[in-house]
Amino acid sequence: MLHVTYATAPAPGGVNEDYVIAGPAWVAVLDGATAPRGVDSGCGHGVPWLVRTLARSLVEPMEAGDPLPEALSRAIAATMDAHGGACDLGNPHAPSSTVAIVRQAGEHLDYLVLCDSPIGVLHTNGMLTVVDDDRTARLPGGRPYPLDLVASLRNRRGGFWVAGTDPGAAFEALTGSVPVAGLRAVGMFTDGVTRLIEWYGRSWQELMTAAAAHGPAHLLAEVREAESAHGTPGHGKPHDDATAVWISIVPAGDGRRGA
Ligand SMILES: [Zn+2]
Repeated sequence: MLHVTYATAPAPGGVNEDYVIAGPAWVAVLDGATAPRGVDSGCGHGVPWLVRTLARSLVEPMEAGDPLPEALSRAIAATMDAHGGACDLGNPHAPSSTVAIVRQAGEHLDYLVLCDSPIGVLHTNGMLTVVDDDRTARLPGGRPYPLDLVASLRNRRGGFWVAGTDPGAAFEALTGSVPVAGLRAVGMFTDGVTRLIEWYGRSWQELMTAAAAHGPAHLLAEVREAESAHGTPGHGKPHDDATAVWISIVPAGDGRRGA
């Protein structure tokens, strides 16, 4: 059994473009990418619409038991249909989103990570596996990236892949499967939270330990505290939407404990 808790918050003063959705045996986290100010995205719907439409489009294929890349591919295709024809889906700045998915299937836990919403998998022996699709951190020339460069490398081999206007992107995600019996917990995070690692000197182990001990909301508070205390690097937004999901793996037979 999965016991799921999460916290999500917009950047102060903004609209939350992160999204969390869960079914009986799965959880997905999405982080919408905002087009830079003044850039035409070709879409009249906007990023919050994109992430919630993608999220709800996951429900049917996830419950049908589709393999995770197929499920995400179907969700992307359904979302493209939902734009309704008036939007320019060939626009390289069309709204897009990261997607991370975890699903228990019998004795295994399957995961998928597309773009920079990483997950940490904590094993019962204390070992930690990090699944991080860091292709956006390794584009040519380093940050800050010119707008045209990002547009030209989006959903391209040698560039990076993101959920938006190409159902094939789902098959470029990082995927894997681990036996549930060896798992203690899984953490899922948007980059508004993992800036604690990238910018503020925390380790993955520390992030996971804090989430286990104090819950996901504690991590969000830590992020805002670090942002206020230390500021952000030149290329970074002062604040970002931040989401942390903590999934405890409850061993079979322990379901009534604490009820
Ligand atoms: Zn649209």
